[in-house]
Amino acid sequence: MNKDDCIFCKIANGEIPSATVYEDSICRVILDVNPANKGHALIIPKEHFDNIYSMDAETAAKIFTIATEVAKAQKAELNPDGLNILQNNGEAAGQTVFHFHMHLVPRYIKDNVTM
Ligand code: 5GP
Ligand code: ZN
Repeated sequence: MNKDDCIFCKIANGEIPSATVYEDSICRVILDVNPANKGHALIIPKEHFDNIYSMDAETAAKIFTIATEVAKAQKAELNPDGLNILQNNGEAAGQTVFHFHMHLVPRYIKDNVTM
């Protein structure tokens, strides 16, 4: 894909507005437009990588470090009972946006909250 046409490049770099919950020089963390659950967040690196196959380990490590902070912030604000972290690579794996991103999906037992 041409990076100029990549929606997550535009979101990560602020060209397209998004519901941003965190931003630093490495990434932007946004709320998913079609959330699987309340608080569903996406960590999007500012640099374009199609998926994990083209990503360097240093950036991947930074993304996971940020994931630990986002997880704790979600816990503090939303008090979920659990959390799924998932990350799809390739069409065969369900990837639909071909700019690396990590999903953080809080899970709730008590009220069976789905939104
Ligand atoms: P994938 O299937 O590639 O792992 O996940 C892509 C995710 O990006 C989906 O959960 C989808 O709802 C989300 N998404 C796609 N386009 C946009 C957008 O323009 N804004 C936001 N906030 N999320 C998006
Ligand atoms: Zn991109």
